[in-house]
Amino acid sequence: MHLPLLIEDLLDECEILALNKDYNALIEYVEENYKRLDDPLLNNPEVHQKLQALYSYIVQMKKIPETRIIKRLENIPGMINRFRKQHLVWKVSKNELSKPLNTPIKYIKGVGPKRAVKLQKLNIEILENLINFFPRDFEDRRKVIPIPLLRENEKVTTVGKVISIEKVKKSGFSIISAVISDGLYQILLKWFNQDYMENLLKVLKNKEVYATGLVKKGYYGALEIHNPDIEVNDNTKREILPLYPLTEGLNQKTLRNIIRENLPSIYYYDEILPEEIKEKRKLISIYEAYTGMHFPKSMYHFKQSRFRLAYEEILTLQIAFLLTKLKTKEIGGIPKRFDGKLSKKFLQSLPFKLTSAQQRVYNEIKNDLKSDKPMNRLLQGDVGSGKTIVAELAILDNFEAGYQAAIMAPTSILAIQHYKKMFEDLSALGLRIALLIGATSRQEKERIKSGLKDGTINVVIGTHALIQEDVHFKNLGLVIIDEQHRFGVKQREELMSKGHLVDTLVMTATPIPRTLSLALYGDLDVSIIDEMPPGRKTIKTFLVHQSKLDEVYNFVKSEIENGGQAYIVYPLIDESDKLSVKAATTMYEHLSKNIFNGIPIGLIHGKLSDSEKDEIMYQFAKGKLKILVSTTVIEVGIDVPNATIMVIENAERFGLAQLHQLRGRVGRGEKQSYCYLTVGDIPRETWDRLSFFASTNDGFKISEYDLKLRGPGEFLGIRQHGLPEFRVADIIRDTDIMLIAREDAEKIVETPEKYKHIIEKVRQLHKDRLKLLEVG
Ligand code: ADP
Ligand code: MG
Repeated sequence: MHLPLLIEDLLDECEILALNKDYNALIEYVEENYKRLDDPLLNNPEVHQKLQALYSYIVQMKKIPETRIIKRLENIPGMINRFRKQHLVWKVSKNELSKPLNTPIKYIKGVGPKRAVKLQKLNIEILENLINFFPRDFEDRRKVIPIPLLRENEKVTTVGKVISIEKVKKSGFSIISAVISDGLYQILLKWFNQDYMENLLKVLKNKEVYATGLVKKGYYGALEIHNPDIEVNDNTKREILPLYPLTEGLNQKTLRNIIRENLPSIYYYDEILPEEIKEKRKLISIYEAYTGMHFPKSMYHFKQSRFRLAYEEILTLQIAFLLTKLKTKEIGGIPKRFDGKLSKKFLQSLPFKLTSAQQRVYNEIKNDLKSDKPMNRLLQGDVGSGKTIVAELAILDNFEAGYQAAIMAPTSILAIQHYKKMFEDLSALGLRIALLIGATSRQEKERIKSGLKDGTINVVIGTHALIQEDVHFKNLGLVIIDEQHRFGVKQREELMSKGHLVDTLVMTATPIPRTLSLALYGDLDVSIIDEMPPGRKTIKTFLVHQSKLDEVYNFVKSEIENGGQAYIVYPLIDESDKLSVKAATTMYEHLSKNIFNGIPIGLIHGKLSDSEKDEIMYQFAKGKLKILVSTTVIEVGIDVPNATIMVIENAERFGLAQLHQLRGRVGRGEKQSYCYLTVGDIPRETWDRLSFFASTNDGFKISEYDLKLRGPGEFLGIRQHGLPEFRVADIIRDTDIMLIAREDAEKIVETPEKYKHIIEKVRQLHKDRLKLLEVG
């Protein structure tokens, strides 16, 4: 008995060996394995003949001179690819009776009012939704592994008759198991907490079934399959069957048939990709791709399908971004005139020189301000890299040119802090600066609004309060948005629309890998401050078990005796029954009474009013408070250079990007800073994750790691804001596609006459995104 081998698997292996120029291994491989071929495609005489030819072509290399061997090795990948294109890919045929994509599902083939209700539970309302309802997995019936040949940790389909069923219930936990047998060998199937399987299995007793799932080793060493999908042997051909996410009362077979019957409606889609691009990127057609997402002829077909559709999604988004960019440039901006008197004066007053990264980025911004095209720039820089100063320089130049500036921050703490810093730095140079937040008094608000309207206020710093309808500017010229990912694109546009052709600078301290920033901010120019001010010491980070908390507290005490200050951060405000996490309030009481007796401690959290928060921050910044107990409200932007210790308790509750922001609150001065992450008993993976964090200070490395671990929504904490919604593409996995699609999009937008069709399609597809601009 040998394991059946599919043609595509044989070809994959041959391709690798040929590309490696390893002809001895290649010859040996085909000689050994050719006889294992077992594939429904072999019923096609043409396939059979071509494979024979390939076989001979390879095996004959034994007898020919070296130069010809090299030639053959070069030819083989091309032969394999042609074979794949021709025999491993297919498309459904056109059907004149197929319904348009916008047909409500209750009117489509195979669906009546009852099934329509069930499909709606899966968010399928119209035929197009159905066609874009993709399988979560496949069952490969071309390759059914006999029970005795199953191996641990492989995902397989096997076949056998159901001979027994059993259910075990233990303290809130149930296992349903069934034994299937091929007459001689048996294997155990197990489902965990899936009680509904019991009834389903009873019906299958004594029937032959296919089981698809992961092979695992059981308690006593015997193999078993966990949570398999089960299908009756209905004599379906040997093909790859899709496994869809299901809902009550709708089974695989029904859903499969409905989709199969309606699939010809894909011909209502246009092929929007230009021939030349399809050629260059070796893309299959849109029709082959939709067919392959549901009923692939081979796994090669499925992969190509996914690639093609993901590419198209990303490409169209990138074209939309670039069109937006072009459009803003076309609309034009106001060239600002200034010779930099004020900014020079400001630079001279600083006790340090700009880093070369700051200088470079500032030049980019200056050029934007002077240009007759509007600035739309993303400024990325790790925490503490010195973005604020660059922003201040831009504000000064903008002011000198005769314009107002607005700075929007996500929290009032941050707005207040920016306000203080800018008030200190810029008032001396003659700028009038105001703070507008939710807590600003009515009277004060009125004063600021009229000052903005008549131009007597030059710079306003605030929160969402800035985008209220009744805030008007005399001549807003520069908009700065801090921590952009906390806002939506809409809010950015709203603030921009308060001026005419304003310059916009978006700042973020969450380092975003290039591919993600392309997906999020593909319409912005990007500047990166990739250098820290000199003399910064790396923050030493330690991972500590809670049982050693006393040592950490002792260290905090000794640092304070030496003139330092510390933050102690907790995940929640109040003690909750459900989670055994320390809450800031309870701990504040405990720490001030029992641990840091006699040391002035402050408590700050999101439930305090803005003026209370402000007062406490002020006390801490002045050094009157030595310890600040806090929730994550201090996460962004707080700048107290004298603070050198950051203790984060229950650190396992935070994401890495968030920890990085918190840690960035220290290490802002000359002194060595420390970060302690204290944890309870945590799983191995969590420990690894935190150890990784402790091992590096590099924000880009951390965010890349975090992004892979948690996905973009969690990572940025944005979910609803600005992340493009892809049906197929995956922002994390498809970084390669992101880069090539961006490259192609640039070419397309550069030569629009040549690519009219796809550009027109993109305009339709991304109407909303592009419309925002037309009104602006
Ligand atoms: P970011 O906003 O990027 O987190 P900040 O602008 O708040 O960083 O700067 C962090 C600290 O570094 C501030 O105290 C600032 O005065 C200081 N700083 C900024 N640029 C430099 C520089 N070129 N050299 C030395 N210190 C600098
Ligand atoms: Mg900052």
